[in-house]
Amino acid sequence: MEFRLIERIRELTAQPRDDVRIGIGDDAAVLAVPAGQELAVAIDTLVEGVHFPRGTAAADIGWKALAVNLSDLAAMGASPAWALLALTLPDADAAFVEGLAEGFAKLAQPHRLALVGGDTTRGPLSISVAVHGFVPPGKALVRSGARVGDAVLVTGTLGDAAAGLHALQPPLRDDDPRASLREFLIERLNRPTPRLAAGTALRGQASACIDISDGLLADLGHVCVASGVGAEIDAALLPRSSALMALYDEAGALQFALSGGDDYELCFTVPAQRLADVQADLSRLGCGVTRIGRIVEGAGVRVRGTDGEWLTTDRAGWEHFA
Ligand code: ADP
Ligand code: MG
Repeated sequence: MEFRLIERIRELTAQPRDDVRIGIGDDAAVLAVPAGQELAVAIDTLVEGVHFPRGTAAADIGWKALAVNLSDLAAMGASPAWALLALTLPDADAAFVEGLAEGFAKLAQPHRLALVGGDTTRGPLSISVAVHGFVPPGKALVRSGARVGDAVLVTGTLGDAAAGLHALQPPLRDDDPRASLREFLIERLNRPTPRLAAGTALRGQASACIDISDGLLADLGHVCVASGVGAEIDAALLPRSSALMALYDEAGALQFALSGGDDYELCFTVPAQRLADVQADLSRLGCGVTRIGRIVEGAGVRVRGTDGEWLTTDRAGWEHFA
C-alpha cells in the first residue's frame, strides 16, 4: 500500500536530471553537485491546523510545502535542484497523496526540480520538504550585510496572504461581488510564488536579503539584528494589492502588510548607488519591486505613518483587527 503511494509520487513528480545518479527507490539518493557550486539546503514543515487550515485542498498543500522552501532558496540567491519529501498521513488516502503530488509537481516542473526521495509515515497530517540548490561560491545572499544608508525594498505586494486567511471565515456567498477579490487573496495564501528569478538576479547586488514568511516587521527585524542596524519604513510606500485595498480599510490593510505572514515575497537591502540598476533588473524580470524605506543606525524597525508620525505597532492593534 505504502509502496504504491510512493510509486505514484515518483511518477507524478518525474523530472529527468543528469545530476541525479540515484533517485527514489533506493536507501538514499545519490546526487552530483556541479563543480564550482556551493550547495544551499533548507527544510520547512507544514502542520495541518498550524500552517494551513484544516480542509485545505491537497494540491494547495503540495504546492505550498514546496513553495515555502523554494522561497528560502530564493532569499539566499540559490537555484533549486533537488528535494526530499517527508509525509505524515493519518491514513493511506490515495486521492489525497495524488493531489498533493500534483500540486508539488506543478511548482517543481518549471524550476526543473527533481524529487529524489523522502519518507512516508502514519500520524497527524504534516508535510516536510527539504530543498537543495546551487549558488556560486561566496555569492549567497545573507541577512547580515545591510549597511546604514542602504535602501530597503520588497518584491510584489504585502499582506495578501494574511488577508486571505482572514477572508476564509466566514465564507462569502459565490454571488457576492467581493468573491473574486477574495479568491485572489486566498490564492496568494495557498499558492505563494517563490521569487527565485529575483533572488538570483540579486546576487552581488543586494547587501542583505530575507523572505517574508512571518510578516515584514518580523522579517526585516531579523535583517536588522543580523546586520547590527535599524530600519525606517514609510507606510505610504508599502505595495498593496488592489484586492487588499478594496476589501479592507486603510488601517486593516496596513496591519496585514506590516504584520501578516505567508506572503513569501523578498525583502532586501541595496546600496544607494546600485538602487536604480537593481530596480530595472527586477522589473525586466516582470517582478514588481518597491523601495519602502532605508537602513539607519540603531536597532529595530520604525514605521512612519501617512501623516508623517511614527506608528506604534503593538500586538493590541493586530488583535483588535483580527
Ligand atoms: P527505507 O526504509 O530504506 O527508508 P522507504 O520505504 O522509507 O525506505 O522508502 C523507499 C524509497 O522511497 C526511498 O528511496 C525513499 O527515499 C522513497 N520515499 C519514501 N517516501 C517518499 C515520499 N513521500 N516522497 C518521495 N520519496 C519517498
Ligand atoms: Mg524511509
